[in-house]
Amino acid sequence: MTESPVNGNTVNETRDVIIIGSGPAGLTAAIYTARANLRPLVFEGSPSSTGDQPGGQLMLTTEVENYPGFVDGIQGPELMAAMRAQAARFGAEFLTEKIDKVDFSGPPHRVWAGGTQYTSRAVIVATGARAKMLGLDAERKLLGHGVSTCATCDGFFFRGHNIAVVGGGDSALEEANFLTKFADKVYLIHRRDTLRASKIMQERAFKNDKIEFVWDSVPVALHGEDRLAGVTIKNVKTGELSELDVTGMFVAIGHHPNTNLFMGQLAMDDAAYLLTHRGTHLNVEGVFAAGDVQDRTYRQAVTAAGSGCMAAIDAERWLESQPHQAEIIETPTDW
Ligand code: NAP
Repeated sequence: MTESPVNGNTVNETRDVIIIGSGPAGLTAAIYTARANLRPLVFEGSPSSTGDQPGGQLMLTTEVENYPGFVDGIQGPELMAAMRAQAARFGAEFLTEKIDKVDFSGPPHRVWAGGTQYTSRAVIVATGARAKMLGLDAERKLLGHGVSTCATCDGFFFRGHNIAVVGGGDSALEEANFLTKFADKVYLIHRRDTLRASKIMQERAFKNDKIEFVWDSVPVALHGEDRLAGVTIKNVKTGELSELDVTGMFVAIGHHPNTNLFMGQLAMDDAAYLLTHRGTHLNVEGVFAAGDVQDRTYRQAVTAAGSGCMAAIDAERWLESQPHQAEIIETPTDW
């Protein structure tokens, strides 16, 4: 094996399975492949607050009430810690790093993290999705300074403040409800006059006195230099502009799949979700996908976990169908 073109580090062992991502999909794949004695190496990501950190998007949520098996619900981070510990118990290995480059011209396939090259016969992609942003001028600058995509992470800082949540789906309503624990008032800014969120979440939000709905509206400008100091909103029906005196704005307008890394190598749909066929197979031999990175429809923790199980079984069967490792080593390669 030659050295990585990124720098001189190469891990010489070719693994059976590398798993990229550590949300419910990646960790379920890790549990199953570990129990199949495939000694998976899981790249669990690195700290972030947009949904691509170790543990995935459930690390940014509060109570999970619809994951089967938990009568009274469970906190998202607690559920992910349990899945990780379960995978580790069966021998899954973890690296708290993000993959920054892949080469799926194998098998074996190659991935790089922090300049080190790793090779694997099979790869399971479970990189999930990340929070979408509004695209306003000051949004990135004020992220972490009043603008947030994670109520669980940042809600505490808004005790006694007036804040806004943008979006009309389950995430927005969940965040708005949660934030009323801290904030005096939460404006829920939605671009239409009906919500996309589930009925139960809607009922909870409508009953909450601290939530005020701002219908048919979108934020068009954010104010403040070092910290958010107000938001201009526009009524999309009348064109009228008004000011909201808020010190916090939580953006909860959906997600985008984490697939930039795979552009040009893995087949994607028009919204950049990976295209699976025959279960979790991708267009490249030996590469499989599970979870939100390939699911624009259901996007639930339980469906992600289910598809992680499918990817593990598909990878295991595919590995069994391949020539023995020794034959692979004898095969001439270009590296
Ligand atoms: P979502 O269902 O796609 O909702 C996104 C919301 O943001 C929609 O109301 C959308 O408006 C609005 N929006 C999108 N782009 C916008 C823009 N540029 N400007 C302003 N508003 C914009 O996303 P989600 O709420 O994150 O939920 C994703 C999935 O996770 C869903 O399947 C949901 O059920 C699930 N989830 C479940 C729970 C739970 O059960 N506890 C919690 C969170 C999420 P329109 O309605 O006009 O399109």
